[in-house]
Amino acid sequence: MTTIDLANLIFPNINKTIDDLENLYPSRNLKPDAEVTRFAPSPTGFLHTGSLFTSFIAKKVAKQTGGIFYLRLEDTDTKREVEGAGEQLIKQLEEFNIDIDEGITLNGEKGIYGPYIQSQRKEIYQIVIKELIKKGLAYPCFCSIEDLDNLRKYQEEHKLITGYYQEFAKCRNLSIDEAYNLIKANKPYVIRFKSSGNHLNKIHVHDEIRGDLELSENDQDIVIMKSDGLPTYHFAHVVDDHFMHTTIITRGEEWLSSLPIHLQLFDALNFKRPKYAHLPVIMKVDENGNKRKLSKRKDKEAAVDFFLKAGYPIKAILTYLMSIANSNFEEYLIKNKDKDYNDFIFSFNKMSLDGALFDIEKLNYFSKEYLASLNKDDITSLVLSYSKLYNQDLYNLVSRDINYFKQIINIEREKDKPRKDYSCLSEIYNGIIYFYNDYYTNNINKELDIFFKDINISKINKLDLINYLKDLKDNLKFINLTEQEWFNNLKEIASRHNFCTNNKEYKLNPDKYLGNISTASQILRFAITLRFNTPNLYNILCILNTETFNKRMELFINSILN
Ligand code: GLU
Repeated sequence: MTTIDLANLIFPNINKTIDDLENLYPSRNLKPDAEVTRFAPSPTGFLHTGSLFTSFIAKKVAKQTGGIFYLRLEDTDTKREVEGAGEQLIKQLEEFNIDIDEGITLNGEKGIYGPYIQSQRKEIYQIVIKELIKKGLAYPCFCSIEDLDNLRKYQEEHKLITGYYQEFAKCRNLSIDEAYNLIKANKPYVIRFKSSGNHLNKIHVHDEIRGDLELSENDQDIVIMKSDGLPTYHFAHVVDDHFMHTTIITRGEEWLSSLPIHLQLFDALNFKRPKYAHLPVIMKVDENGNKRKLSKRKDKEAAVDFFLKAGYPIKAILTYLMSIANSNFEEYLIKNKDKDYNDFIFSFNKMSLDGALFDIEKLNYFSKEYLASLNKDDITSLVLSYSKLYNQDLYNLVSRDINYFKQIINIEREKDKPRKDYSCLSEIYNGIIYFYNDYYTNNINKELDIFFKDINISKINKLDLINYLKDLKDNLKFINLTEQEWFNNLKEIASRHNFCTNNKEYKLNPDKYLGNISTASQILRFAITLRFNTPNLYNILCILNTETFNKRMELFINSILN
């Protein structure tokens, strides 16, 4: 009995060879320096912020070198698979404009290197495994979970490296006949790779981000095919990235420790090794000031869903991700005001090694800058498309009268130094709600408490306050006036009620006055908006117009009197 008999027993229906696969998946016809990259998520849940980062970089590298970026679904771990997660991942990638040149899409696959779903590539893996078995480089292992548990316990007790290797790799030593007979007797098995390595040896590898590394050689006989006939990640990675002609593997740094396994497999199969770039894990500084990995369980920002629901613009998120990817990107943006991450040339050697730090304040900064840079029509379209999907209350509010919304959102916009008050679109609801009369009417009584708690207003006698408010109601003009003219008018009315319009003078004799002009303006602001903090008051008045102004002043005065 030979290894060929064993291979035929295990895979009776596999007739193709690795050479057949090489012919089926020929080299790509690309420029010599074009990179082929991929994003290879497992459908185990929603798109993680770290995965978004990885896919964004992979896409960028392919694009800037004139290469190919493709999407492969790694669904061989059926236990961890979540129903519908694959579809969700594809949709979310689309939402982030990380479009693929090849691979799996919502309408099937595109590209000639597929299938791009691992569970549909069973035959391909088995062709390769069959050849490994024939060459004596892989073998069936019949150890049960219990056998492996006992092995681990023994190794732990004797302070040995744990695992299935060398003298501990029991099934390595089965004769071909023994293995053949056990399979014939229906004993369950997995297939292991027969490692020729020794962990005392060092291997030298190059990582595009980390440079030259020295790692211990792999000596574990890792499982390459599970009992369900599907491959493990290690094996599938090597086979897929070889036949799909990936030139550079961009993946999370958690895979760095298994790199010796992968290299050994590439070598054993005579496949050309790809380049590797192990991307830093995204970290955050937690409440206690400690740096730690973004956690799916603890951190809402670990899932990209959080940003989409909050209404962070895609462009701001990607700008932010590029800023944590390459330290020179922000400098580039400052020097090139009309450029963005699409124009920037990303490089692996400018990536920080000690973990990319997630900083929401910085994201807020990019987002504010971006949202402030949009004209009223563009921000309105963005608000509508976002709110329709994620924020029904905002959608309903804006849809009441889109032109009215445009006027509101245009306050201090479309100018050289626009107002930068929104870091995400969900904040707009609260930022504009006071423009709507039903809100004003329903909240006036509740908000009055806040009004009277203001330290400057609380000092003013109620009668004086009412007189001032009445005068404002009857005499304040803003329609067809410039902002300056309006303000002069306001000052005039305020002076009549003993508010001081000269700050120096007020500071010298504060007790002589009801307050200064700033308090007089704040009273007006609050009466009109139920807030002390708003954008330009003159603009607000013009949008609300005379009728609403009159109504609100009257309601405000009456509410104080009641
Ligand atoms: N399926 C693996 C994961 O989701 C992919 C790692 C890789 O990119 O090779 O972690």
